[in-house]
Amino acid sequence: MTVSIPARMAKSTLEDRHGRRFEYLRLSLTDVCNFRCSYCLPDGYRKAHGAPSNMSGEEIRRLVAAFAELGLWKVRLTGGEPTLRQEFIEIARTVAGVEGIRKVAVTTNGYRLAERAQSYADAGISAINISMDSLKPERFRAITGHDRLNEILAGIAACRAAGLSSVKLNSVLLKGLNDDELDDFLAFVVEHDLTLRFIEVMRTNDNPGYFAAHHLPGAYVSERLETLGWQKQARQAGAGPAIEYTNPDGPGRIGIIAPYSKDFCASCNRLRVSATGKLHLCLFGDAGIELRPLLQLDSQKNELVERLQRLVATKAPSHLLHQGNSGATPHLASIGG
Ligand code: SAM
Ligand code: SF4
Repeated sequence: MTVSIPARMAKSTLEDRHGRRFEYLRLSLTDVCNFRCSYCLPDGYRKAHGAPSNMSGEEIRRLVAAFAELGLWKVRLTGGEPTLRQEFIEIARTVAGVEGIRKVAVTTNGYRLAERAQSYADAGISAINISMDSLKPERFRAITGHDRLNEILAGIAACRAAGLSSVKLNSVLLKGLNDDELDDFLAFVVEHDLTLRFIEVMRTNDNPGYFAAHHLPGAYVSERLETLGWQKQARQAGAGPAIEYTNPDGPGRIGIIAPYSKDFCASCNRLRVSATGKLHLCLFGDAGIELRPLLQLDSQKNELVERLQRLVATKAPSHLLHQGNSGATPHLASIGG
């Protein structure tokens, strides 16, 4: 007698039709942010009229458990500013406690980080990316709307003292605004033995004029690194789209996230879910796919797992940024950058 295996058991991974496997979820906890980064929320956060509520801790637990059943093991909490969510610590602990989740990371603007780093580590967060777009206090204020550079520097030290195993910086390098700080960033990274990722500014629905004025291709950074003798690292199997460089003379690592570069999407290994429970197969895709109705009961898990598999299989091979199409994303805070 032949026994038929249910579709879900036969394939316990998340893959699309282009051979990409997804083991990494970027989960937004809120679209609220207290900063006003000039490329993201230049006028500050504004609540959309009639916006749905954020997923509860229980909904998040069910969501992450379904992904984990499909082999996903890393979750990054993001936003908006994820740490503004009142139940941030409880949610981080819940996600870290889901069977199969091996790494919980957070991306933060560093708000109140020095005083909170230990509580993040205690909740099970092991990796943190801190955004820092300038090493000059006045410029930092001009780009983010907040005079908090010193607070962020203290936060970096606190994360290390708290024993977080990975502490990285994110910087958006912007033509005419902070591109003259490239060498200062490199020196900072070497001095503090840090990893910094330069993110190429991305065009979203809200920022086309800003993008045209300040976009710098990732090649600007890679050319400088190569001139200074930094060494490009071979891509590890399963690694994300960052191009990594090491410093031959000592500590410090640089990553470059260049979404406009050729083949960027070929190594895509991530999925996104917005704070209100919409699956975004691409940061620059359409309005997102509603998952919330399947997050209401533990007994819906199998249905959710099957739906995730079916949806992920349809992920498009590439974004359409080169055609000037940045999808439906007004700004990255809206779905989780
Ligand atoms: N608020 C947190 C923060 O700033 O780290 C997390 C969310 S934020 C959307 C995540 C990352 O996206 C930050 O490093 C930010 O600099 C980056 N970002 C936001 N808008 C961007 C854009 N249009 N282009 C490139 N990076 C962007
Ligand atoms: Fe807020 Fe992060 Fe957007 Fe800056 S980049 S406005 S900190 S969500």
